[in-house]
Formats: sequence, structure tokens, C-alpha cells
Amino acid sequence: MIKENYDLIKNNITSTCKKTNRKVDEVELLAVSKTKPMSDIMTLYDLGQRSFGENKVQELVEKYEGMPKDINWHMIGHLQRNKVKYIASFVNCIHSVDSVRLAETINKEAHKNSRIIDVLIEVNVASEESKFGLRIDDVVEFLDNISHLNNVNVRGLMTIPPNPKSPEENRMFFRSMYKLLVDINHEKRDNVNMNVLSMGMSKDYMIAIEEGATIIRVGSDLFGSRL
Ligand SMILES: *Cc1c(COP(=O)(O)O)cnc(C)c1O
Repeated sequence: MIKENYDLIKNNITSTCKKTNRKVDEVELLAVSKTKPMSDIMTLYDLGQRSFGENKVQELVEKYEGMPKDINWHMIGHLQRNKVKYIASFVNCIHSVDSVRLAETINKEAHKNSRIIDVLIEVNVASEESKFGLRIDDVVEFLDNISHLNNVNVRGLMTIPPNPKSPEENRMFFRSMYKLLVDINHEKRDNVNMNVLSMGMSKDYMIAIEEGATIIRVGSDLFGSRL
């Protein structure tokens, strides 16, 4: 089942890129393996997949320890500052940076590990009360406030838009994210060269690709529903 799902998603990525004149290698599939067993991760690994996303620190650490060392692990869930130390030695990218204090902690722990950690700024694109992330209007000031952190590399933006009834509903949110990224790059800020847009999940990843996503985070369409 996982192989069929994987093939289908890969095909969808390819056809959506063709349709919108994008290069297929501009779009990275992040396999969201949260709650799924290591055997499922291994199935995808054997098919060639190397980028996996988890949303809980403990689960991420356990899977990192149990899985082949050439996997790229992305932290996509809300991250508490006191837990950064458990993942700082190996995490490839943290998608959920939404406070200066969290960015400072990542910087400190990265420094201890002699690393520079890639991060994305989480944006609450629909200004939902219940969601983590910065409002669009606050992103530029936020970037200025963390630009001095030498062991944090801000690669781009991430968003989790509302759960759509139909995927088209989220197109305008993906479009706002793309515009925000372009606007920020136009201003040529010191230390900022962002080209990553992490957006699009099982229900809407093709719309996200059409609107400029460079990382899509797909869980249930790949591994089956989480129940
Ligand atoms: C669970 C999760 C996903 C994947 O969601 P699916 O709808 O199962 O594809 C993507 N991003 C984040 C931040 C998640 O927590």
C-alpha cells in the first residue's frame, strides 16, 4: 500500500510541476511519519525516500536512533525550548520557529554542537486564534530580531492553513505565503536569503505546488490515516 501511495504522490508532483512549468527537483516530498512505526519508515527508505518529518521530540529522537543515519529529519511540530537540546545534534530543519526566545535557544544548542541549523519561520497565514505561528505583518520585524543569530540559518517560511473542505479554499493562503517570501527577498536584508516554502499537506499539496511550495509535508496520503 505504501509503495502505491508513494508512486501516486510522486506522479502527482511530477504532473503538477509540468502543468505549472516548475522543475520537479524544486519540490521536496517530506514524508510525515508521526505515529507510524519504524517498519513503515523503512519501507519508504527502501524505495529511496530520505526526508521524514515528525512533530514530537521524543518520537523524533527514538526514530532517529533506530533508523539509518542518512535520513534527513525535520521537526514540524510545535517545539518547547527545553526540548531543543534533544534534537540539536542531528535535526536537519526545524519548521516551527515562532518566537525569538525559541530561535535563541536553537542558536545556543546548535553552537554547542558546532552546527548551523536550518529553520523555517512558522506563519499563521489565516490568523487563526488556535494556531501557532507569526502573523504575516510581524514576520519582517521578527527576521530583524533574529538576524544576529549565527548558528541559525533561516531558509524560509512554513504554514499550516485551515483544514480545507475543498483544496481550492487554501489557494489564497498559499499565494499570500509566496508573496510574503518574494517581498522579503526584495528588501535584501542582511543574512536573509530565503527560498524555502513548506506548505501543502495530504489534502492540498497539489494546490500548494501550483502556488510555489518547495517542501510539501504529506502524512496520511502516504502512510494511511492515523486514526
Ligand atoms: C501531521 C502533519 C502533516 C501531515 O498531515 P497529513 O494531512 O496527514 O498529510 C503536515 N504538517 C504538519 C505540521 C503536521 O503536523
